[in-house]
Amino acid sequence: MLAHKQEGIVIVLSGPSGAGKGTLCEHLREQIDINYSISATTRDPRPGEKDQVDYFFMTREAFKEKIKADGFLEWAEVYKNYYGTPLDYVEEQVQAGKDVMIEIDPQGAKQVKLKKSDAVLVFIMPPSFAELERRIRGRGTESEEQIRHRLGNAMNEINTLTAYDYVIVNDDIHEATADLQAIINAEKCRVEHNSRLPRQFRVEKEQKYDSTEY
Ligand code: 5GP
Repeated sequence: MLAHKQEGIVIVLSGPSGAGKGTLCEHLREQIDINYSISATTRDPRPGEKDQVDYFFMTREAFKEKIKADGFLEWAEVYKNYYGTPLDYVEEQVQAGKDVMIEIDPQGAKQVKLKKSDAVLVFIMPPSFAELERRIRGRGTESEEQIRHRLGNAMNEINTLTAYDYVIVNDDIHEATADLQAIINAEKCRVEHNSRLPRQFRVEKEQKYDSTEY
């Protein structure tokens, strides 16, 4: 077997606005060391959000320039604003053997899977529609029109569930965090990803899928 440099894994998190992706990531941060991609967006910052921490806040013109320059791993228009994952950061981390978490909508998740077939797609599901509405209203950051739009969009997002590898029902944040951690641990134990394997036994991605005979 070939000794080779092991790439990090890309974990994609999606789910309706209010499903609790942000809180889940905060909890996970306390448990494991993983890198988070910071998205670019053309939407306005919400109170308390910081540029280069929560998002790279950009003008529509600057965003379009970056699209033209192939600067995004994926991008999509969500709620009339552009959102995108800067390509450089993800590539640097993955090539250095580090794992990256990306929180994006289903259109973006699909693009990532097409470009990186071993990306792990995880869908975060609210326990019920009523709870989803309660969470979005409780946040108090959106107008009534935006709330209705987000609720309407939630069903469209849930309908893309079959494109995902895993689904976590976020009823209890501690259980949901444990589920996400279990998924990441399992993926890191895959034959082609396990960086704890002695070098001489490491398996190339391509080798893994071709090795049906032994
Ligand atoms: P929010 O405005 O609430 O921060 O995000 C709105 C939606 O945009 C969420 O569903 C979020 O997952 C998605 N989103 C955030 N960043 C990206 C990104 O880089 N690419 C894509 N495709 N969607 C994103």
